[in-house]
Amino acid sequence: MKSRSLLLTNIGQLLTLRAPAIESGPRRGAQLKELGIIRDGSVLCLGGKIVSVGLTKDALRDPWIKKRRKQLDEIDCSGKVVIPGFVDSHTHPAFVAPRLVDFEKRIEGATYEQIAAAGGGIRSSLEGVRTATKAELQARVLDALRDMAVHGTTTVEAKSGYGLTLESELKSLEAIREAASRWPGSVVPTLLGAHVVPKEFQQCSQKYVEMVCNQMIPQAARRNLAEFVDVFCDQGAFTPEDTEQIFDSAQKHGLKVRAHMGQLSPTALAPFFRFRPASFDHMDHVSDEDIRKLSRLDTIATLVPGANYFLGLKAYPDARRLIDSGVAVALATDYNPGTSPMISMPMATSLACTQMKMSPAEVISAATINAAWALQIAQRKGSIEPGKDADLAVFDVQDYREISYWFGANRCQITVLQGIVGSSQ
Ligand SMILES: [Zn+2]
Repeated sequence: MKSRSLLLTNIGQLLTLRAPAIESGPRRGAQLKELGIIRDGSVLCLGGKIVSVGLTKDALRDPWIKKRRKQLDEIDCSGKVVIPGFVDSHTHPAFVAPRLVDFEKRIEGATYEQIAAAGGGIRSSLEGVRTATKAELQARVLDALRDMAVHGTTTVEAKSGYGLTLESELKSLEAIREAASRWPGSVVPTLLGAHVVPKEFQQCSQKYVEMVCNQMIPQAARRNLAEFVDVFCDQGAFTPEDTEQIFDSAQKHGLKVRAHMGQLSPTALAPFFRFRPASFDHMDHVSDEDIRKLSRLDTIATLVPGANYFLGLKAYPDARRLIDSGVAVALATDYNPGTSPMISMPMATSLACTQMKMSPAEVISAATINAAWALQIAQRKGSIEPGKDADLAVFDVQDYREISYWFGANRCQITVLQGIVGSSQ
């Protein structure tokens, strides 16, 4: 796969998400609505990078472009919307089978905890991953990445977490790495060995935490298999004390941290701030005091409404309260077999609009530039600006608000992944 020299012209609405005058970190409050829209825009990409961004008429007058126009692959985007490729900053793609029994049981009224107690939930995915070959897992991950790109996603954070033995967690991370090498987009790998305590450790969960800290994290770090360590810190998963212990180990081995927080129950965030987590994800339950503290930090609150939707919950994370208090929020799919089998970022944005009352402008910032901040790659990703990676999504709509409006339909026509063009048609 080789990146091409690309010239996109006549773009109806080009959403640059360029930095506001004073760029000081992730977008907060009213900044989320600043999409940096250029009408009749143009983008030039060379060598997998964005080189220039502006009006089509200026691009076509540019002497450098004029001279080489025949060698450029030109894409006419008349009547279309171009946005930075979506950054899906929270996914669990390393699994083998859908969880159809959970799906049916939940419809019949069983709760998350009841399904887990009956042998469903995360634990039921373990056997498939433990017995799968690396090649099988790699194929699953690659299928998901390709499907995501068809819906406009160009960067994906991918967690392990359905093996929960040293061997199968490392196998999952290797499968993610191999899938990433076959996909032109960008993948950020995360070790989620602390997803749930596996059955064989149920009576001695501290031993499992020690295994995560003393074996999984050091080996994943030494072999460069993960950039982040994640912990599911909640009722029925890991305690705040476990989480601190795991974060300590991650820090000692040079890995950054993020955590599933406040999905099922409130957890005080203060003990974790010293680790400078990139992101706290879910955040259905969070106190006013923690919101005040978060509003002064670059830690992102990543909201994943797909999980609330699929679990049939009436309540969603209170995005308005977070945004209006100055917390930087991002949106992600939480793609996983149990609670959010959703690969589509446009669908995540639609749910955020209708269920969490985010505006169609806010959801775009949350799903691109702030999601890049959540992965600490905002210097390369999340906006269409010279010097950044050539990651673009072309939507066959006249107005960017239609991306969230036409829910359940895919309006993404072309995805550019580091200068490589993929098409859904
Ligand atoms: Zn998750």
